[in-house]
Amino acid sequence: MIIGDSETVSSYKNQWDRFFDKFGYRDKITKIRDFYPDQKSLLIPYQEIANFDNDFASSLKENPAICIRAGEDLIKSFLESTKDFESKRINIRITNLPEKDCNVEIRDIRSDRIGKLISVSGIVRKNTEVLPRIQLAVFQCSKCASLTALEQSRGKLEEPVKCESCGEERPKVRFKLMPELCEFVDYQKIELQENPETIEGGAQPQRISVVLEDDITGFIFPGDRITIDGILMSEQKRSGNLMLTEFITHLYALNFSKETKEVETLNITP
Ligand SMILES: [Zn+2]
Repeated sequence: MIIGDSETVSSYKNQWDRFFDKFGYRDKITKIRDFYPDQKSLLIPYQEIANFDNDFASSLKENPAICIRAGEDLIKSFLESTKDFESKRINIRITNLPEKDCNVEIRDIRSDRIGKLISVSGIVRKNTEVLPRIQLAVFQCSKCASLTALEQSRGKLEEPVKCESCGEERPKVRFKLMPELCEFVDYQKIELQENPETIEGGAQPQRISVVLEDDITGFIFPGDRITIDGILMSEQKRSGNLMLTEFITHLYALNFSKETKEVETLNITP
């Protein structure tokens, strides 16, 4: 889980709150709630946020993971306070990123883009099946048998340090994962290769891995020409148990569009 310092997060939440009010998003959010889980995402064009507040739009571009997360948490608490609603997550998906700042060729992606919003085009070479990933893990304490829930990021399963009920800590107690109580999200990985017309001479085409989650999985196939808006993420390389100093990058998709024909990928009422 990515956490910003609490001051930053609460200032983002305030901004989202004002933005949702001013641009009529409260109604859209309650509509999504009414159609959940057929609808799971709130689409927001980047330009609307820039029209609302340029500084906030810059924060979104520079610090998207924490900023979007703050907005999603705000939506969650808003929905929980209005009506009996299972505390499921609604995704914020930013669309129409500004070309000048965000468009980048796969071969030109450098470390200064890590953590930022980018937009990348190419041809899909491979896709994985859509598989479940644990989003909220539930563990049982070996001492008192009570349950502790822990939100999970992608990668290694994180166990609780301490039992919320008896207060005992690892390794004095052990925590057993309870798969039947966990919440899962759909997860898919694709390999995106740069468009041949952007490659000069006999250069090898370069690729980037893209991770898609939840309601945007299952729509992309090898051969598709697509543009993905997302967040450039980095992961530390490892050799066995040793963590290395090099990192590999992948793109965490916020949304995608297919070329050649207009495909309505998400069924959101305007
Ligand atoms: Zn316990």
